[in-house]
Amino acid sequence: MRKNIVAGNWKMNNDLAQTEALITALKNQTTSSNAEVMVAPTFTNLFQAYQALKTSNIEVIAQNMHFAENGAYTGEISASMLKSIGVNTVILGHSERREYFNETDELLAKKTDAALAKGIRVIFCFGEELADRKSGNEETIVGNQIKNALFHLEAAAFQNIVLAYEPVWAIGTGETASPEQAQDMHAFIRKTLADKYGNDVADEVSILYGGSVKPANAEEIFSKPDVDGGLIGGAALNAEDFFAIVNAF
Ligand code: PGA
Repeated sequence: MRKNIVAGNWKMNNDLAQTEALITALKNQTTSSNAEVMVAPTFTNLFQAYQALKTSNIEVIAQNMHFAENGAYTGEISASMLKSIGVNTVILGHSERREYFNETDELLAKKTDAALAKGIRVIFCFGEELADRKSGNEETIVGNQIKNALFHLEAAAFQNIVLAYEPVWAIGTGETASPEQAQDMHAFIRKTLADKYGNDVADEVSILYGGSVKPANAEEIFSKPDVDGGLIGGAALNAEDFFAIVNAF
């Protein structure tokens, strides 16, 4: 059975003191959810967050990494560096990385390979822009993002991949894809995987939805059969809101 996952992407928010305060608040939350829970602090707070949460049920994950093993890449972080502090999962391909840091499908294929080679699980993000949806091209765009970055992989690699569908027009805008729009796209994504790798692989991969998920809409979105959780931005910065979303499972 594939896993339910709720991951909080803190983006470039929270200095050290704010990170510690949020972690304390997270530890005070109670849950009987069956979802795996993850949070992604900034790099400067990653080690601290890992240390503070390593005995909890909350996994600390990274927001990004570089594909190279080490060397002259000023400002970058490698898979082995993440591993060395206990981080075993990384978000790759977030739309903000694609838009502001020019990350392409080709680059993301290399990053994915580098993460998987070190045994780091990848939460691979993709999604169409508003213009793509208005012109009815959303499935073509999403299908190509997945094919270009991931379809060179062997089927077994998908045991370490989580997909996150995040329509760009719904990120941080307060506008959520309707539960039906999310379900339709998730079913398309699963079919895309099934056509290439077969039903066994497609059925096992968790597909998260991201884009203005909040306590008020999480339960309905997560109730859809092909939605296996969420990647949460804004609402993940508040412990009560985040756990209200986790408790939607
Ligand atoms: P949001 O961000 O929940 O603030 O819309 C989602 C994301 O970027 O992962």
